[in-house]
Amino acid sequence: REIYSSYIRHVRDTVRITADRTTIRQAMASHHIASEYAKLKRIKEEEGLDILTLTDRSGKVILRINNPGLLGDTLNDNEFIKYVLSLKKAIGSTTIADATELQMESPNLAKRAHFKFIDTPKARIKAESEETAGMMIGAAAPIFDFKDNLVGAVYGGILLNRNYEIVDKIKQTVFQGMKYKGKDIGTATIFQDDVRISTNVLREDGSRAVGTRIAENVYARVVVQGLPWIDRAFVVNNWYITAYEPIKTISGKIIGILYVGLLEEKYSDIKRQTMLTFLGVTALGLVASLVISYFLSRNISRSIGKLVSASRQMARGKLDVHVDVKSRDEIGELAGTFNFMASALRERDEKLKEFATKKIMESERLAVIGQLAAGVAHEVNNPLQGILSYSCLLVENISPDDPNMELVEKIAHQATRCKNIIRGLLDFARQTVPEMKYCQMNSIVAETLALVERQSIFHNIEVIKNFDSNLPNTVLDPAQMQQVLMNIIINAAEAMDGQGTLSVATRTDPAKEFIEVEIADTGLGISKENLERIFDPFFTTKDAGHGTGLGLAISYGILKKHGGTIQVNSEVGKGTTFTLSLPVVEEAEKEKGHGRD
Ligand code: ADP
Ligand code: MG
Repeated sequence: REIYSSYIRHVRDTVRITADRTTIRQAMASHHIASEYAKLKRIKEEEGLDILTLTDRSGKVILRINNPGLLGDTLNDNEFIKYVLSLKKAIGSTTIADATELQMESPNLAKRAHFKFIDTPKARIKAESEETAGMMIGAAAPIFDFKDNLVGAVYGGILLNRNYEIVDKIKQTVFQGMKYKGKDIGTATIFQDDVRISTNVLREDGSRAVGTRIAENVYARVVVQGLPWIDRAFVVNNWYITAYEPIKTISGKIIGILYVGLLEEKYSDIKRQTMLTFLGVTALGLVASLVISYFLSRNISRSIGKLVSASRQMARGKLDVHVDVKSRDEIGELAGTFNFMASALRERDEKLKEFATKKIMESERLAVIGQLAAGVAHEVNNPLQGILSYSCLLVENISPDDPNMELVEKIAHQATRCKNIIRGLLDFARQTVPEMKYCQMNSIVAETLALVERQSIFHNIEVIKNFDSNLPNTVLDPAQMQQVLMNIIINAAEAMDGQGTLSVATRTDPAKEFIEVEIADTGLGISKENLERIFDPFFTTKDAGHGTGLGLAISYGILKKHGGTIQVNSEVGKGTTFTLSLPVVEEAEKEKGHGRD
């Protein structure tokens, strides 16, 4: 716009200076203006004007440099002359000169202004097919005589049609003639209405795209609405980043457009290239991350596979598995934990196996001994009964003074001892049938204690009772249970040798599923090797005639028969604790809950 305006100023200044020339004023005063022709012709050529014309103060042409022979017509319709004659001031602007006006000046100008329209893609549709009028930068200035009276006017102009000076100057000044792929990056155009009359936008064949038309949407905004357009637009045959501005006459009527545009291709190429680079980098990154994640996941899934197969083997019972994963991540940690778990399981499994074999051997041994004992006892019982009966008869029948009396009495006494042993054996072999009753363990324990406490061996023993008052009733054989308690309590008294503390306690678990009786003494304790054998029949540490070694064996059998257990804890020199544990059986369950063996 500034470059365009500078041309308007140039034309205006030229006509003003011309009008101010003393020689012109003198010639006007003496009515010999024709004498100025040569001088004015030179000014016109030097200043690049296409038109230079002088009128008198009524607007009648008195000198036309282009066509000196044609005089006398008035330029009253010329808006510059009209302005100057009425306001007496110089003026410059853009205007439209019609074909007749141009023709009067010179056929050359008329020819330069004439355009046959050339159609291009996206160009505005128009009914007319040619343009004969021209667009001009024009200016006029008043001529005064020496008394400052208005005597005439000077009118000058540059026809813009096919005049490429302004657009090329814009291209050179603003864009410095930069090129991209052989095309000018920066372009400028002057439109007359919608037709390119001066431009450096080129057509395919390399010629200037004059005679082509603007796009409809740009026209609608700039010419119809009078607003600037700053956006991308399709110009002749390429996309440009453009700016359009209306060109107006003195009275403000829009008659054309001033345009500058940057070839978009350069920027869209940069955009495309950036995009491609970006896509390339992204694709490369994607491929790299795929490769990395493939190896990572292969490592992980391989490790997990090892763990899975090890777990399967373990589930099948093969406990000596070891997972060989050495990575330092969570998987490695998991594998370590897995190996630790496997070895812990292995250890526990071995202990369990050991324990089970021991238990099986123990119960097998007890069973065999039990059968043997039962058989022997049964066979021996009848002849022994005979010995006992006949020895008793003998004791009754011979006189007390008989010297054999003592011997017979010894036979009877020893036979009674044998009988007791046999009964013990039969008890152990569970030949006797238990009589199950629903009863309270606390009272059985209390009764048993009352029975034994009166014996002399208990005189120096302190008995501490600690009974759980919430102990539930359960189904059991009270007589057999009393026998068990008696055995253990007497053993305790013997171990304390009649001096010490006997603690007897009962208790139950919160769910009342079993009851326990704990009998603790402060006796001599049991050594480790004996601890394993105390439930064996005939195992005793007592002198012959004192212990039979059947007490604990029988108690074990009774507890087993009740579905319970008997446990022992002992420390040599400190004392021993026996714990009886029995399941709580409700009366209704009596039938099915018992009789197990
Ligand atoms: P016996 O009492 O006839 O010896 P038991 O079967 O009752 O037979 O006991 C076996 C052995 O267990 C006893 O000889 C004794 O060595 C040991 N024993 C049992 N109870 C105790 C106890 N409270 N303190 C120390 N040793 C005991
Ligand atoms: Mg005993």
